[in-house]
Amino acid sequence: MKVKGSCLCGAVKINIPQIAEEITVCHCHMCQKFFGGPFLSLAGVLPKDFSLRGEEQIQRFMSSEWAERGSCKTCGSSLFYHSLADDEYYFPAGLFDEIDQAKLVGEIFYDQKPAFFHYQEATEKLTEEAFLQKLFNDSE
Ligand SMILES: [Zn+2]
Ligand SMILES: [Zn+2]
Repeated sequence: MKVKGSCLCGAVKINIPQIAEEITVCHCHMCQKFFGGPFLSLAGVLPKDFSLRGEEQIQRFMSSEWAERGSCKTCGSSLFYHSLADDEYYFPAGLFDEIDQAKLVGEIFYDQKPAFFHYQEATEKLTEEAFLQKLFNDSE
């Protein structure tokens, strides 16, 4: 699918010509802090596969040794999780219009999800341990 998005004030605009129609939720504590709730993430994309307007409006914060997170300096919208090792950007679904055809396919860090809600979609649910194990195995 092709999606266009922006932050709340419109200073930052994101254009992704082609991306998988898949949403994965991250329930980790850091995402909960940064996004104010679960992180409903689009698939990871490399910088060559999307365009960004308003780069000078983006505040980047190193949230760990392996990733930074971006937000808009003006309106404060959370814009992305950027994995530094593979240079992939993960954008929250809420920034984009015309994303209704996407499907919720997976949930990670499921063991860190608050008890007061759950999604009814049939998703693959991975605990932190299971997710990290999968990541490690895939990169071998
Ligand atoms: Zn903004
Ligand atoms: Zn997370």
